[in-house]
Order: sequence, then structure tokens, then C-alpha cells
Amino acid sequence: MRYKTSYHVHTTYCDGKDSAEQMVLAALTKGFTHIGFASHAPVAPHHKEDMLMKKEDFCNYKKEVLRLQQNYKDKIEIFLGLEYDCYEGEGMAKEIDPKELDFFILSIHSLGTGKDKRPIDCSAKELEELFDLAGGDVQEIVRRYYALLGDAVIKEEAPIVGHIDIIKKNNKGSRYFNEKENWYLDIVQKCLEQIRRAGSVVEINTGGVVRHGKECLYPSDEILEMLRDMDIGLMLNSDAHKAENIDFYYEEMIQKLKDMKIRELRILTKEGWICDEVD
Ligand SMILES: [Zn+2]
Ligand SMILES: [Zn+2]
Repeated sequence: MRYKTSYHVHTTYCDGKDSAEQMVLAALTKGFTHIGFASHAPVAPHHKEDMLMKKEDFCNYKKEVLRLQQNYKDKIEIFLGLEYDCYEGEGMAKEIDPKELDFFILSIHSLGTGKDKRPIDCSAKELEELFDLAGGDVQEIVRRYYALLGDAVIKEEAPIVGHIDIIKKNNKGSRYFNEKENWYLDIVQKCLEQIRRAGSVVEINTGGVVRHGKECLYPSDEILEMLRDMDIGLMLNSDAHKAENIDFYYEEMIQKLKDMKIRELRILTKEGWICDEVD
């Protein structure tokens, strides 16, 4: 492979532990050619999640990334992005205009509205509350997750889809549903068709592996095979919240891609999207 990249990098502007410059320095040490900052985008005040960037901080965030872009321009290509959240009944929360950015990632971190809203990427207890609110209908929650994602991807023409199957985060050992069953794969298939129609790139996100082990690699092997067979563009992102994790699980993942006969990854460059051969 000619390039080493991650376009899903968090900093202290949201819930990351290291500064943007520390992330750049770690990327340089590890031989990266391109990195993109994708802090959790600000959302409307009624949502109140504390992992997000504050709207008034965006200006400094942008300035800082542009400063780094300039200072390190001979060593690494740096991109300004955000990870936008998506809510049921509201769609993507665009407190910041995507036109201000080089790229964005569209992700979902919660389901439900108002007092019935629960995070899907936190504890099993909150996921169970969501199931209870749906009358115990697990499939209904899964369907709502992928419908929200697929519809928003089309509406926003999202360049990148974040941690596509994060709904499985608390599903280790098929605790709540079986990801190999047809009803599940049919729901995913429908979402992938929307993603293909939108022309979005789907990230392979190794950030879950750092925190929760290999079962939290997004996407699952089954979905990766579907993406490969549908010829949907893939990119490799670490979703790093600490400098030390900037390329966590990359070596293993590249071997896995070879084993799965996934032959190329998409790379965002200053000249636009290109392909890099996996070899
Ligand atoms: Zn995320
Ligand atoms: Zn993230």
C-alpha cells in the first residue's frame, strides 16, 4: 500500500484525550501520509450530549486544523472534517455548515426522540431500555437504526459512513440478536443499496477494537463481504481518541482485507478521492 490514512481522528475539542497537534505528531511517527480530523459536531442545545464539540469552539478548531495543515504541509496532508450525528425525526444535525469542511462522516450514536432517546453506543442497559420502549421488539430497533442511517446518507449525500453496524456494540455473543440471520442481513442489504446509490464510502473502523475487542470491529465480516460484492468504496479509519491508538489494529486489518480479497481502499487527497491497492 502506498498510503497510510485515518480520517476519523478525535481531539480535545470533543471527547479525545490528546490535542490535534499531538495526533499529527503521532501520525508522522507511524508513517501516515494523510489524516482527517472528525470531531463530534455540535448539535442543537436540546440534545445535551457531553462528548460533542461546543458550537462556539468550532472557529478555534477550524483555525487549529488549518494551522497544522499549513505547518506540516511538506510532511502529511491534513483535512478538516466533522463527525455529524443523526437523530430520529430530525436527521443529520447540521449546526455547522458542511461547506466549511473538507469532508464529513455521518454517524448514529442514539435512537429515539425526546425523553425516550437513548445512546446505542454506551451501556447494554440503555440498549435494553430502547428495546423495552419498542415493546421488546429487537428487530424494530435494528430496522429503525438502519433506516435512519440509509435515509440520511441519501439525503445528505454523505461522503463517509461512520461505524456502520455500531448497533451491534452490546451484542457480543449474539446476546440480543443474531447478525447472521436473514432478517438482519436483509435490513443491512437495504441500507447498503442506499449507500451505493449515494456513492458514499464506508469506513472500516478499528476504534471499537481498542475499547471492546475484535467483536467490535465495524463492519462485521458478513457486512464487509456484502460491501465487497456490491463494489462499495471502503476506507480504513482508527476513530482514535488517543495519539497512541492512531493506527491500532491496522496491520491485522490489512491482512484480513487480503484474506477477504478486498483489493483496494479509498484515499481522500487534496486532488480528490483516489484508490490505493491493498498489497
Ligand atoms: Zn462515532
Ligand atoms: Zn468517532
